[in-house]
Amino acid sequence: MFYVNQSRRLSPFPVKTKEPHIPTIHGADRKFRQYQTQGGTMRGNISRRSLIKGGAIAAAGAAIAGIAGCAPTTKESASQTNSSELPPDLRNADFEYSVVELDPISEFDTEETYDIVVVGAGCAGVPAVLTAVEEGASVACLQKEATVSANGNGCSFVVKAASNAAGIMRWRSDWAKLNDWRINPALFQYYIDFAEEAVPWVIERGIEEGITPIEFLTDSSVRYDDGGIVAVCDATQESNQDLMVALAKRAEAQGATFYYETPCVQLVQSDDGTVTGAIGKTSDGKYIKLNANKGVILAAGDYMNNDSMVDRNMHDAKMYPKVLVNHTGDGHILGILAGGRMAPLGHARQIHTNYIGPFMFFPFLALSAEGKRFCNETVGMSSLNIPMSYTTRPEDAGKHFRLFDSKKENYYPNGLGVSPATLVGEGSAWMDPSILVSGNTLEELCENAGIPVSDGMESIKRYNEMCAQGRDDDFGVPGDYLVAMDTPPYYCIKGDVGMSGINAGVMVDDRYRVIDENDNPIPGLYAAGIQAGNPCGGINWNMPGGFSNSHIFTAGRYTVIHALTGDTAPSNPSGFDKVKKYFAGPDGSYMWDDPSCASAIVTW
Ligand SMILES: Cc1cc2nc3c(=O)[nH]c(=O)nc-3n(C[C@H](O)[C@H](O)[C@H](O)COP(=O)(O)OP(=O)(O)OC[C@H]3O[C@@H](n4cnc5c(N)ncnc54)[C@H](O)[C@@H]3O)c2cc1C
Repeated sequence: MFYVNQSRRLSPFPVKTKEPHIPTIHGADRKFRQYQTQGGTMRGNISRRSLIKGGAIAAAGAAIAGIAGCAPTTKESASQTNSSELPPDLRNADFEYSVVELDPISEFDTEETYDIVVVGAGCAGVPAVLTAVEEGASVACLQKEATVSANGNGCSFVVKAASNAAGIMRWRSDWAKLNDWRINPALFQYYIDFAEEAVPWVIERGIEEGITPIEFLTDSSVRYDDGGIVAVCDATQESNQDLMVALAKRAEAQGATFYYETPCVQLVQSDDGTVTGAIGKTSDGKYIKLNANKGVILAAGDYMNNDSMVDRNMHDAKMYPKVLVNHTGDGHILGILAGGRMAPLGHARQIHTNYIGPFMFFPFLALSAEGKRFCNETVGMSSLNIPMSYTTRPEDAGKHFRLFDSKKENYYPNGLGVSPATLVGEGSAWMDPSILVSGNTLEELCENAGIPVSDGMESIKRYNEMCAQGRDDDFGVPGDYLVAMDTPPYYCIKGDVGMSGINAGVMVDDRYRVIDENDNPIPGLYAAGIQAGNPCGGINWNMPGGFSNSHIFTAGRYTVIHALTGDTAPSNPSGFDKVKKYFAGPDGSYMWDDPSCASAIVTW
């Protein structure tokens, strides 16, 4: 579960227990909070839009069949009309879930021209729009929802001046190793090189709009035993949704145009393949054509709600509930139709639990929905879906149970210094009463939690036998981590695993330009955000905390700078110096200066 060799471990939770207060400075707290925030398109936050259904497949097929006879006669045309069949990375069924249209669109209610056109107003799209106006460019954004829609709250960057080359490279290698060496080194390097400016810029602009991060940390930094140092800053926003709404308003006040409820349904491409614009469809069915003199930035999020794409690209994960709605891979489809290609597998999925905080430190006894033990409980949070996919019935989706008792001692190595039961109840940040139940007997616990009593009791009895012998014959949990269920009251967290993101998209080069099958950039087309490239490349998203949002913010900002200037130099740069006071400890120091700094990376 942990790749850790820290001499100091502190509580990840803002607990107010009856026991002595535990300082809240560990990065795990950040991670816990990251996945608890409500974003714009969380399940239940909005009603699902009416998507093109049923007839869309037929329409797509008809369009494809008709394309050969509709060869473009103008200098520019809808991007997909150059082909007589779908590119290999697309299937007709993909269009059943997406708003992207194949029939050539030639009649427009409005036609406007900008320097930059952005597709999607989320964590990548909004920084792209704001950067464009700050750089003096004209910009418009097509947004599918009625508002900005973004998620998450953590982000991070490396302070190069406080790090050394060996430390950064060893750190990168550690993360690469965790992902079977499949990370994309160029995109990791982009994060190293440009997040250092882009993330402070996002933080600064947020603060100027009255939105200050709730936490600033440097404890993900690593001082390796060979002298390598990587200095890492993490910032946690209350909510990226609120932040992005504020930044979008700021951009609008400075002249940016947002078209809400106007999804991009097609790109426009000239005969030489250059992407020259994007077509949006208004809520009353009219088309608007936005020409882009300098570039189109695709920032339309992931494809978790496109069942066809999920089934093809991550068949084993399709049973998990989706945390978001309306994320249908439109940007991927648009990019591929323009000549791009999908990242080769794996498409790193973020499949997480609804009780992330405790999971990171307590490998509680885990039972399936059927009441059976199913895994070595020390499995990392990011990988729990793997054992579940072997044993969990599809109809149970992400459901499972985590059990613990009321022993008072700190009973796990590398634990929190307190027993888990101490954290139950009033003031405990992570024991949500809607997911935590208790019982004075084991039978009562099973009944209250909805665990099939007979199988649950048998599993607990067997587990207690393993605890008594101090070795786990069934799943190989190390003896130190086996803790019997023998002290009432007993507790159960009703676990729910869901998919919160698919971090893979159309392939991009080292400047996030969408590339074709020969690795050549498609002129005028960039992809940014979770739909861009293969930064991780592994099966599960095992990357530095906050990397995801940081590469998303960063690519949003730097694709625009690159489209406008051909370079990567913002005209009014931010940087660590502008925000370093927030990250400094009370004595003005940073964790990377502290001898008790971690000496290896930590994963959850
Ligand atoms: C609950 C949750 C918490 C997360 N927390 C973190 C975290 O703390 N740290 C981290 O690093 N990562 C986190 N992630 C993962 C990821 O970083 C976020 O999902 C992030 O918001 C992705 O940013 P994005 O801009 O790529 O996509 P999004 O923010 O999803 O934005 C895409 C936008 O495009 C719009 N759109 C879609 N299709 C179209 C179309 N056809 N035309 C126009 N607009 C379109 C969407 O409405 C949306 O607004 C989290 C994910 C979830 C779900």
